Amino acid sequence: MSTTFDAIIIGAGPAGSTAAIRLASAGWSVAIVEKRQFPRRKVCGECIAASNLPLLDALGIGEQFDALAGPDLQRVGLFVGQRRIIAPLPPMAHARHRWGRALGREHLDTLLLARAAALGVQVFQPRTVKQHVTEGVLHRCTLARAGKPDVHLHAPVLVHAHGSWEPAPRDAIQTEATHRPPHRNGDLLAFKATFRNARIQSGLLPVLAFPGGYGGMVLGDHGLTTLAFCIRRDALQAARAAHPGSSAAEAAFAHVLACCAGVGDAVTDAELFGNWLAVGPLQPGIRMPVPGKGQFAIGNAAGEAHPILGEGMSMAIQSAWLLTGHLVAQRAQGSATTRIDFHSLGMSYARAWHSNFAPRLRFAAVCSHLAMRPHAAAPLLSLLQRWPRLLTRGARIAGKVRQAGLPATSAGDPAISAPIPEPTLESTHEHR
Ligand SMILES: Cc1cc2nc3c(=O)[nH]c(=O)nc-3n(C[C@H](O)[C@H](O)[C@H](O)COP(=O)(O)OP(=O)(O)OC[C@H]3O[C@@H](n4cnc5c(N)ncnc54)[C@H](O)[C@@H]3O)c2cc1C
Repeated sequence: MSTTFDAIIIGAGPAGSTAAIRLASAGWSVAIVEKRQFPRRKVCGECIAASNLPLLDALGIGEQFDALAGPDLQRVGLFVGQRRIIAPLPPMAHARHRWGRALGREHLDTLLLARAAALGVQVFQPRTVKQHVTEGVLHRCTLARAGKPDVHLHAPVLVHAHGSWEPAPRDAIQTEATHRPPHRNGDLLAFKATFRNARIQSGLLPVLAFPGGYGGMVLGDHGLTTLAFCIRRDALQAARAAHPGSSAAEAAFAHVLACCAGVGDAVTDAELFGNWLAVGPLQPGIRMPVPGKGQFAIGNAAGEAHPILGEGMSMAIQSAWLLTGHLVAQRAQGSATTRIDFHSLGMSYARAWHSNFAPRLRFAAVCSHLAMRPHAAAPLLSLLQRWPRLLTRGARIAGKVRQAGLPATSAGDPAISAPIPEPTLESTHEHR
């Protein structure tokens, strides 16, 4: 088995697998490393905006997505206190994909990674990148797995797609202290549950606003409803004090039920499907660019919006698209990956990233701060009650129907137009 590649990608969420598919489609040799075994559930609202669906087609999983995902999301709701404000979502100007849909991460992430493997990407799973160092023009990653010897991989391009909710792989200069900031009252902790037989209107995407937090609910695949929300640490502590003996998830859920009547109506007779999941604290913000020649970040590792807009997967897939477009175009001009002008490529990717995603981060920050303070936002709620179509406008500003200027099927995009290599024997998962 070769241990030297054109690119190593750390993490097989939507960002990492999108990058792997795009680079492999353009003839790059790619290794992707994922610490968890798939399929795995993940804290996420699981709504995929319409803007991504042509990209999923181009990535080669559109048909499977169509077959599995929940109903078209045609309306947005705001559930706050006793209020339920409902408005149309804006449709995307596309012949087949006008509306977003929801699909469990245990399905979406598995489909994307399987597609990458079928294109010849070498998948190391479950393996954790515990360290990376730069040696001349190559990055060396050390992959760990309990009970197995370490594996070392080398590549001139290292893509950070490891998300933002776990300690980043240590490079030689980071210390343990940099990974563990002290607890703060304003830390955001996220929870998710899935319900069977919830009473949620098909095609409605309710956003939840409650003191100290916000969230969303959606009917996804297999008739299952996902409830995902964030809550500040101090609000969670108050909820736990009010519900002694409850788990953190149960106490937080009780707080949501008490503050959003629409949630109670939807889940009262529903059955919890699987366990509650939790992550945190989240750290919304921009983490770009990554210092170091030939290193790039995509998805949450590059920057994370408050999840109130449900645009995290869009940013993951679309930032991977942007970066790989740059990488493939640069190598198409020269020959060896090591000859790419990483400095100018990094600058140009960073510019494209900021112009596409920084406004979404800012808008999400404003929305989340308003949502967490429904009393202070009362005048805005009155406006929304009177003109619900302001929500439609908000969804448009959030980027729900905008495609980050990406050439999804353009013949001029080398990552799409390049011939797709046949799968090789080495393309199978490492531990099967
Ligand atoms: C409550 C909540 C609701 C949300 N709702 C939505 C929504 O409805 N729609 C939407 O689009 N977005 C939503 N999001 C955001 C979305 O979940 C994220 O933005 C998205 O998962 C980011 O994708 P990613 O590929 O960058 O990272 P991730 O999906 O986090 O993937 C990173 C992968 O890297 C792996 N990894 C990490 N470290 C290592 C390592 N050292 N070695 C190997 N592998 C590693 C992890 O196991 C993981 O599989 C929500 C988020 C939250 C918290």
